[in-house]
Amino acid sequence: MKPKLKDPVFKPLPLGSIHPRGWLLNQLRIQADGISGHLDEFWPDIQHSRWFGGDREGWERAPYWLDGLLPLAYVLDDPVLKGKVKKYLDTILTHQAEDGWLGPRSMVQAGGRPEEQNYDLWGQMLAAKVLVQYHEASHDPRALPALDRLLQKIDRHIDTAPLFNWGQFRWFETLIAIYYLYERTQAEWLLDLAVKLHAQGFDWTSFFERWPLKGPTPKGRWNYMGHVVNNAMAPKMPALWYRLSGKPHDRAAIHQIIDQLDRYHGMATGIFTGDECIAGTSPVQGTELCAVVEYMYSLEIAISILGEAAFGDRLEKIAFNALPGTFSPDMWAHQYDQQANQVECSVLPGRTWNTNGDASNTFGVEPNYGCCTANLSQGWPKFASHLWMATQDGGLAVVAYAPSQVVWQAGGKDVLVTLETDYPFSEELHFTVDAAQPTAFPLWLRIPAWANGAVLQVADEAALQPRAGEFARIDRTWEGKTEIELRLPMQPELQQRACNAAAITRGPLVYSLKIGEDWRRIQADQPYRELPHADWEVYATMPWNYALKVSEDSLATDVTFQQGSVGDLPFSPKGAPVTARMQGKRLPGWKMVKGSAELTPQSPVESSEPFEMLTLIPYGCTNLRITEFPVLK
Ligand SMILES: [Zn+2]
Repeated sequence: MKPKLKDPVFKPLPLGSIHPRGWLLNQLRIQADGISGHLDEFWPDIQHSRWFGGDREGWERAPYWLDGLLPLAYVLDDPVLKGKVKKYLDTILTHQAEDGWLGPRSMVQAGGRPEEQNYDLWGQMLAAKVLVQYHEASHDPRALPALDRLLQKIDRHIDTAPLFNWGQFRWFETLIAIYYLYERTQAEWLLDLAVKLHAQGFDWTSFFERWPLKGPTPKGRWNYMGHVVNNAMAPKMPALWYRLSGKPHDRAAIHQIIDQLDRYHGMATGIFTGDECIAGTSPVQGTELCAVVEYMYSLEIAISILGEAAFGDRLEKIAFNALPGTFSPDMWAHQYDQQANQVECSVLPGRTWNTNGDASNTFGVEPNYGCCTANLSQGWPKFASHLWMATQDGGLAVVAYAPSQVVWQAGGKDVLVTLETDYPFSEELHFTVDAAQPTAFPLWLRIPAWANGAVLQVADEAALQPRAGEFARIDRTWEGKTEIELRLPMQPELQQRACNAAAITRGPLVYSLKIGEDWRRIQADQPYRELPHADWEVYATMPWNYALKVSEDSLATDVTFQQGSVGDLPFSPKGAPVTARMQGKRLPGWKMVKGSAELTPQSPVESSEPFEMLTLIPYGCTNLRITEFPVLK
């Protein structure tokens, strides 16, 4: 009999089986020592959340935070953070209502009404995702029955209170929990629930077929369909639905979503704009942090289900650029909105944002609105927990690269597989497969589409030249220690942007002008703004209005790259492990308006200013930056 649910091409490993190393371990430690690991100690919406018996917000914020804290605690194997997870999950599990409802029944947030029928189910959907991770990582025997009861309650609830608002636009996130439980119980009603949610929920697949949102959202016109975070979650919808429908149409639909978001709203970092609804291709429109972490998670789900290498390329691009680019280097402060061309982070009336507030690109505890404060934690930990996945042929695949280690079981034997690398700051990846006894399994390595001329060497055998944009499969019996060297050559590339501007990329990294920064503390007298969790404006201490002397044909000589070592704060202007140098001239007519760079002058441009040597660093290392440059004639 044909299985009712299609198996994913790659199956994520149980949470806790991938161990970060090198710079990734350091970065996760920075996050744990920053706002993520301490949010419950000072931020009222978590500290006094109604989910934990307090009187503050009782809908998405506590489950958002747990959805990121949980994988952070387990990938780090940190006893303090695991203790926090256990404490809060204990409270949630021991207070589950008889009918399966989790947490508070009324929403205490602006516009929320106290009646249960008016509760937006998104809060319960999020809690279901948290329970899945908790079950996988902790094996707590209460988790699966609690999830079963919760999903039964959702099934009954939507009989008379059909999906609306956030729950309607994000319904497919529930499929993650439904499939998880179905794979363990084979209970048919779960797939029926999936069908009901699909029928009641917003159909992103058909929406994107004749997509009406090709331009920037008109000023002030906030809406769910164009909401940047909803659109970042949407690409996973057809992929998740494909597991049940099996239709090629659903399998293909994700490409249409991603292609159109890129074409009409895309940025060089692989993300798209939305402040707070999708905002076009201008590099001074903002992108909300929630959209960055949700897009990453969508791509992690997509590569798991569909197995296409391109999703790994995109995941890395967002993880190594847009994600760190919107945090302070110590990860205590974050922005609500980041800009590709970001020359000032300030509270200024009349900033360019569509519907967001004037403080949206400042760094702080909860600039503009607290959703990102609650949701930001999932970015790095879920990236770390999705680097390696199991393949259908009994093998192990690396879908995204960062230093890490995995204890892999093949044929009942433990094999230790380690990746040592400074990637993405280096093109050299060094794997070790350590098998105490002879063990046969294939190892799949993703070769990014940009990595032309990649070289793969297994032990002292002849070097292979795997094709870019596919997975290289090494099928053999591993015995003792086997060393594998993979070189992914990174060539500089010019990406053409709006107004004929250019962005410089090399491998998975985007390069931006390094601008001197003056951090000024604001709101110091406000509640819970004492250091280290404070709010900041950032001002430029040097000019930023440069045009580059670069061309497609001479790029290899126009730009020189200098490799340094990866330091303690890799994603900071000071710690930038790679720098790019090239010539440029100032464009005195390119000015700042209301805290943002004016629209990029149409290229090619001319300037009578002298040539200067410019320094560009990875986008993720910057807090102020120019990423889309005019190009000199
Ligand atoms: Zn947000």
